[in-house]
Formats: sequence, C-alpha cells, structure tokens
Amino acid sequence: MARIPDTELDRLKREVSLVRLVESSGIELKKHGKDYLGLCPFHDDKEPSLVISPDKNLWHCLGACDEGGDVIQWVMKCQSVSFRHAVELLKDGDAALSVPASPVKRNTIAKHPSSLAANPDDQKQLATVIDYYHETLKQSPEALNYLKSRGLDHPELIERFKLGYANRTLGYRLPEKNRKAGTEVRGQLQNIGILRKSGHEHFSGSLVIPVINL
Ligand SMILES: [Zn+2]
Repeated sequence: MARIPDTELDRLKREVSLVRLVESSGIELKKHGKDYLGLCPFHDDKEPSLVISPDKNLWHCLGACDEGGDVIQWVMKCQSVSFRHAVELLKDGDAALSVPASPVKRNTIAKHPSSLAANPDDQKQLATVIDYYHETLKQSPEALNYLKSRGLDHPELIERFKLGYANRTLGYRLPEKNRKAGTEVRGQLQNIGILRKSGHEHFSGSLVIPVINL
C-alpha cells in the first residue's frame, strides 16, 4: 500500500483547525482558559468533558471515553472510517475548512460524493476509472515525484498516455456496498478487471498505464 507521506499528514494536522472541525459537526464549544470545552459526542455526556487545545490542535475526552487525538483521529471516530479514509476526507475538506465559515460552507466534512455508478457501456466505465486514476496522479506529489525520478514527468507524456495512480481511494467514490447501486457498480468493476473478487482494487499503490488502442 502506498504510504501517505509524513509531510502530508503533518500538514493536515497543522492546518486543519480542530476547533472548526468540531464546531462543524454541530458541537458547541466554550472558551475555557487556553482551551475549549464541549459535550463529548462519543458518550452520554452531561457536563462538557471534551477538551480541545487549539495550541496543539488536539482533543481529549476527560469523561467516560478517556481518549483523544488529532484531527485525523477525530474524523476517524466521528465518521467511523479508516485512517486512510479520514485523511482523504480531510484533504477534500481542507480547502473549505481553511476559508472563513460561511453558511454555505459550514458543513464541510461530508463523505465523498458517490460519483461512480454502473454504466451500461463497459468501455465507458473503464474510461471513467482511467480518468479517475489520471486525476489522482496529477494531484499526488508522491506519484509525480516518482515519475520525475524516472525521468517520465513531461506533462504531455502524462496527458497523452493518461498515466494514472491507483492509491486505493476508488472505493470511496462508489455507492455503499449494501445498496443496489453499490452492488451493481462493484459487479461491473469486477467484470472489467478493476476490482478483485474480494472487492479490493487490482492496482493498489501503483502507477497505472492504460493500454489505449482502437
Ligand atoms: Zn467522551
């Protein structure tokens, strides 16, 4: 599995405001000295036992949970998602989180929109996945650096051959597994060789070079 670069993790932990993140999930915070206090959403909290330290950008529940962490652990716990998925959500929400709150932008951390549905045309579906991997590559400093190290970073080359990067995030773009649309699209992706029977991507943490011919 491709590792998420430490620099990327450090950036998220530093730049995503935990106070704003917590407030955007509907928890009211009150200033208390250097910290903020609020009702912990993870247990039946009667008096505010959730402590947020803006200085360190860390949270801790002093009540029944007795646990805490940084922005990534917050999203993992709030949304019941994996570490990797939490990082993806934070990367997506980051742009919106770093601008002043406005009514439209309040609810910034939502799950990825399910953008990939089954398509009657397998070739078109394959093209959609290739596009997705291609976009992922262009947004991944890690993958671009790799190409550079191999002398393959000419923009025209990347465009023309639709080089892509499969970083195991395709699954987040699919409708939930337990819904009909989710089952359909997964079945199709298995048939066209994108997903394994297990539901995992065939290509994971790898450069994708589609073979394109007539
Ligand atoms: Zn708690």
